[in-house]
Amino acid sequence: MTLLELENVTAYYGPVQVLEGVSLSVPDGGAVGILGANGAGKTTTLRAISGTVRAGGRIVFDGQDIRGMRPDKVAALGIAHVPEGRGTLGNLTVRENLRVGAYLRKDRKQIGPDIDYLLELFPQLRERISSAASALSGGEQQMLAVARAVMAKPRLLLLDEASLGLAPSTARNVYDAIRRLRQDSGLAMLVVEQNANLAFSLVDTATVLETGRNVLTGTSTELKGMDEIRRAYLGG
Ligand code: ATP
Repeated sequence: MTLLELENVTAYYGPVQVLEGVSLSVPDGGAVGILGANGAGKTTTLRAISGTVRAGGRIVFDGQDIRGMRPDKVAALGIAHVPEGRGTLGNLTVRENLRVGAYLRKDRKQIGPDIDYLLELFPQLRERISSAASALSGGEQQMLAVARAVMAKPRLLLLDEASLGLAPSTARNVYDAIRRLRQDSGLAMLVVEQNANLAFSLVDTATVLETGRNVLTGTSTELKGMDEIRRAYLGG
């Protein structure tokens, strides 16, 4: 079953068109990557979905047209956005951030066990549970951002550039944990990533954007085998 479908999505910042027709679909339980150079429109595509930029075209989530819906409504439907730059609440502790992530949930009894699960998934967070988010390292903040989003119990996770600014080994740790989360939960994911190696370690299929439109779509295996992808994104 298709969970999310984008058809010919367009978006503008003021008069400047940055998405010229992006199409993609995320199956229920699937993980899809968005690759592309700086400025290709990856972040804007996620913003169009979460309602933080005005978009044209069709955006359908679980059978419902969500294009133009307010961000809080989109979140309430089960789409959690982990923005570039992480967006944790710096003055709150790790535990408080996790609890804030769960604030819309009705199944209050399940919140404690879910926090325990996430602290197992990200053991570094357990050690920093009472620290302010602002005191965490970049890698820990990224882990917290993902964990906080997962605390909302979403059906789809939008993940923007989770490796940004992290040392290579830290970025791999973050992706290892996200891969395990995917295996454990079957949570569907739409993943923006400039590091194509990391993206391919997580996603089943990916689409490549150039100046606001799709230029290539395929399975991770297909894309990894293409010369143009190797040259542009895999450093080879
Ligand atoms: P990056 O990895 O650099 O974030 P991206 O593929 O995610 O790249 P977007 O952030 O979606 O690209 O940006 C697409 C285009 O829109 C770029 O040319 C960018 O400069 C422009 N842009 C992004 N945000 C704004 C904004 N708030 N106002 C005006 N232009 C913007």
